[in-house]
Amino acid sequence: MKKDFIFKNVDFLKGIGKQLSKYLKKKKIEKIKDIVLNLPYSETDRSKIINLNELEIGKIQTIKVFVKKLNFPRIKNLPNKIICEDEVGQIEIVYFNSREGYLRKLFPKNSWLIISGKVGYFNKKYQMTNPDYVTSLEKQEYVLKNIPKYNLTKGINEKKYRSISERVINNLPEIEDWLDEDFIKKHKLENWNNSIKKLHTSNEGKNNTSQSFRRLVFDELCANFFILSENRKKIKKIKLQKRFTEKYSKIVKNKLPFSLTSSQKKVLMEINKDLSKKQRMFRIIQGDVGSGKTIVSLLVICNIIESGYQCALMAPTEILATQHFNLAKKVFKGLNFKIDFLSGKTEIKNRKKTLKSLKDGNTNLIIGTHALFQKKIVFKKLGLIIIDEQHKFGVKQRIELAKKGGDNCDVLLMSATPIPRTMMMSLYGDMDISKIDQKPSNRKSIITLSKPEKKINEILPYIKKQIANQNQIFWVCPLIDESSFLDYSSAKNKFDFINNKFPNQVGLIHGNLDNEQKEIILKKFLKKEISILVSTTVIEVGIDFPNANLIIIENANKFGLAQLHQLRGRVGRGQKQGTCILLFKEGLSKNAIKRIKILKESDDGFFIAEEDLKLRGFGDIIGFQQSGIKNFKFADPVIHKDLFDLAENYVKINQDKLNQNKYGFLLKLFDKAEVINFE
Ligand code: ADP
Ligand code: MG
Repeated sequence: MKKDFIFKNVDFLKGIGKQLSKYLKKKKIEKIKDIVLNLPYSETDRSKIINLNELEIGKIQTIKVFVKKLNFPRIKNLPNKIICEDEVGQIEIVYFNSREGYLRKLFPKNSWLIISGKVGYFNKKYQMTNPDYVTSLEKQEYVLKNIPKYNLTKGINEKKYRSISERVINNLPEIEDWLDEDFIKKHKLENWNNSIKKLHTSNEGKNNTSQSFRRLVFDELCANFFILSENRKKIKKIKLQKRFTEKYSKIVKNKLPFSLTSSQKKVLMEINKDLSKKQRMFRIIQGDVGSGKTIVSLLVICNIIESGYQCALMAPTEILATQHFNLAKKVFKGLNFKIDFLSGKTEIKNRKKTLKSLKDGNTNLIIGTHALFQKKIVFKKLGLIIIDEQHKFGVKQRIELAKKGGDNCDVLLMSATPIPRTMMMSLYGDMDISKIDQKPSNRKSIITLSKPEKKINEILPYIKKQIANQNQIFWVCPLIDESSFLDYSSAKNKFDFINNKFPNQVGLIHGNLDNEQKEIILKKFLKKEISILVSTTVIEVGIDFPNANLIIIENANKFGLAQLHQLRGRVGRGQKQGTCILLFKEGLSKNAIKRIKILKESDDGFFIAEEDLKLRGFGDIIGFQQSGIKNFKFADPVIHKDLFDLAENYVKINQDKLNQNKYGFLLKLFDKAEVINFE
């Protein structure tokens, strides 16, 4: 068997036809290696032979019986039955659709057989309908063992899949291990060939701390780190240096109503240094909500424009992009920059004008949504791409992005999604990281309270008082995604309730409104024509309303800690004290109480993310799953923390030896090969 057998499509295997491969594809099993990596989640113990007086209904059991009588009724729809016994009891083996000839062969009269299947009971008799295994005593080893169980989708017969998987595992070509024996021993891993066998045939596959499982985790992480390191090499190529004197950014800085925090200054310096280097910048700013990333990016933009390049600033939502656009116009007033806006909803006429202006190089700064990255859009001289709040960008997209920008284009990402330390390198190891770890000094920390939803009426007087004091309020209802119809209606219900209490002072915003409608409401809120904004989490990302000082979050259990922290960051951005009230359905669980306590005690997004991780485990962090950050099949940053470090180090030491011969197999195994064009 050749080494690359495992990278062939599944239909290369005997017994897998079109239909089955279609179902397997649904389960993301397309290549033979996907069968190898599809580990059993459990196993059925068929190893023990049960006497017929020890049968348990509903259980899968294995019996050794004597075939006494075969019963083939001539009446349609009645099942065929084989009466079997042992020394202490009797059982009927029942078949509904099997042919007589087949059954006579399978059950030779007066012979002893091993049968394994689910025990049933009917008409006061024990039965086994369509047993999973029927074999002669000579072949009993085939049945008398732990048989792995795989997670499958509809349309895939478990037994069939198991036999295919078994065949694949038994016929795997011996792979020359890319890890040294000493290394494997030292770190209590397993060699590759053994680990795959064990993962499928012993309980090591179910145990994510077993040596074999850890070996797979280590491989997965290595593949990931190799790609990041390769990506970095690719992107950080030679570019033309950007030359600037900071003359525009100085003007802007002097006009600001505040001075930059030392953290902002530090990050700005790191970026400016990158811009003037001969290597492309590939950097991410990590900074908690409200740490002031936007202004940093605007100051960077000044330098890009001064050096004669164009700049693109992209935000994930229309609202946020618009906000940036308005802010940029304000901040750059008098500087004679040509700033344009582009989103999917830009009218054709304006769009054409903008595209032309970009192509001719008249536009200095374009701000917009994903629409900025359409093929049709051509820049004359793009010098920097900035992406705000874009934690959904995976490695592949980052490469695309860098390509789009051209050879002289620097790349800057900004993210307020606090990422636990363990994850940081495995996600952004290809980028340089700048951290804004300080908040503007005028920022008061937010008071966080919690209340059962039943007592919602108790907070109404408080809201009244806030409104009387000219303050504004966010009222957040949970949602799954921006366009979820269900949540739209729940926000709408809430709107009716609150509007009833505070007539003419409430607005409603949700993902189902079009941009114009959203704009109208947000403008109303910004102009203080309404005091309360009921919303879904469309307000979560980046929006800045300095006058809002109270946020009420309904069904707060639905959100992760990190997400609650993000939402909370929407208030208290101006001079006023901010307050966050978390409403809960029913009595609080212990866990919920702990989580509130953390939110109350800390205002540090990174600390909160770490705590969230500890409290809920990685798999449960909704925010992460939604953001696409959970990109590992086997590795878990809580359970395998040590392996994250080990793999990172291993790759650092071995990255120069990254070649097809040694690591090509590993990268292909985890679908990473095409990222760096290993074929
Ligand atoms: P984020 O990092 O969440 O994107 P923003 O850039 O939106 O934060 O900034 C939040 C608010 O803080 C804005 O109103 C901004 O004008 C203000 N801000 C930014 N930097 C400072 C600073 N150094 N001092 C005071 N306020 C600041
Ligand atoms: Mg922001």
